[in-house]
Amino acid sequence: MSLNVKSIYINTVCHLQWHYHLDSYSMAIGNLLLTDKDKDNIRAFQLKITCNMPRCVFNCMHHTFHHKMDIDSEWVILHRVTILSGIQPNNYHCCINSCITYTNDYTDLDHCPFCDKPQCMSNGQPWHIFSYIPLLPCLQALLQSPSTIGHLSYH
Ligand SMILES: [Zn+2]
Repeated sequence: MSLNVKSIYINTVCHLQWHYHLDSYSMAIGNLLLTDKDKDNIRAFQLKITCNMPRCVFNCMHHTFHHKMDIDSEWVILHRVTILSGIQPNNYHCCINSCITYTNDYTDLDHCPFCDKPQCMSNGQPWHIFSYIPLLPCLQALLQSPSTIGHLSYH
């Protein structure tokens, strides 16, 4: 996950938690759609993002403590956060060595022109995926962050 995507997700998670803590405000915006499980998943996702936790570690934690915690897998949480935040990332295949993303002139290539590694594994799945969030949702998420609003209000 790139730094920009990470910061947007952190802002989104903080934004969702901010609504969660302000009950009267949450009711005003109809944010009662967050279930207790959503709130636990958001906390787990925030832990993963702020600690830069790899997927394998998160999934091990999920598996190890599943009898104590009712949280979803990282994949399910990512999709739920995408729905809750309204931010839909664009995913692009990229080289296993991060040389290129398979866009524009590279869209039809099967191998990286720089390191000659194949785009996909033998099962047809890409080696790496780059998640890109377009600028407008980034700005919207940034300007919805309470800390950003505080910084912008300072004079
Ligand atoms: Zn390459």
